[in-house]
Amino acid sequence: MNQPEEILLQAGRILPVLEEFYSLQGEGYNTGKAAYFIRIGGCDVGCRWCDVKEAWNAETIPPVSTDAVIKRAASFPAKAIVVTGGEPLTYNLDYLCEGLKENKISRFLETSGSCALSGEWEWICFSPKKEAPPVREMYQVADELKVIIFNRDDFAWAEENRAKMDPSVQFYLQPEWSRRNAMMTEIVNYIKSNPGWKISLQSHKYMHIP
Ligand code: SF4
Repeated sequence: MNQPEEILLQAGRILPVLEEFYSLQGEGYNTGKAAYFIRIGGCDVGCRWCDVKEAWNAETIPPVSTDAVIKRAASFPAKAIVVTGGEPLTYNLDYLCEGLKENKISRFLETSGSCALSGEWEWICFSPKKEAPPVREMYQVADELKVIIFNRDDFAWAEENRAKMDPSVQFYLQPEWSRRNAMMTEIVNYIKSNPGWKISLQSHKYMHIP
C-alpha cells in the first residue's frame, strides 16, 4: 500500500470493503429488519469455523471511498446500515459513522470486540471469540451479546462473558451453521433451563438471502 493510501485508511476515509448489499438482518436482536450491509475486510481472530475467510486478508481487498459507501447506503429506503466483517474495528470507523449520522442512517455494528471501539453506534452486537480475548470496554458498551455455539464448551464461554455484562443486555446463543443440527437440541434445552438467554438463528441462510 502506498503512503497516501495508508494515511487515508488510518483516517477512515477509505475502507477495504469486501462486499455491500441491501438485505434483511438475519440474526440477533434486529432480525428481520431491512438494512444496507457492508463487510469490511481484515480479521486476525482466526475462528476455525469462520464462514468468511475471504475477508481475513485486507491486503487482497482494494479500499473504496467511505463517502461513496455512505452515498450508496443513503440510497436505500431502510436508512440503516449493518457494519460487519471481518473485524470492522480493525479500522477507525469515526468518519464512516459521522457521515452516516449526517445522512440520518441508523448504525449497527457486528464485532468480536478484539479491537478498540471507534464510531458512534445505535446498536452494538458483540460476539466474543476465544481465539482473541475482547477489549474490556466492549463489555460496557455492547447492547447485545451473541455467543456462537460450536460445541458444549461454548456454554461455559457464554456464561463467562455474560457475567461481565449488565443484565439489561440482550443475550443470545447462536448455533454455528455447520453444527446447527448437532447442537440445536442442546441449545434449546440449555435456554429452557437458563431463560436469560434467547436463541438466534442465521435466518438469512434459511431464506437463501445474503
Ligand atoms: Fe471470521 Fe468473525 Fe471469527 Fe474473524 S471474528 S475469524 S470474521 S468469524
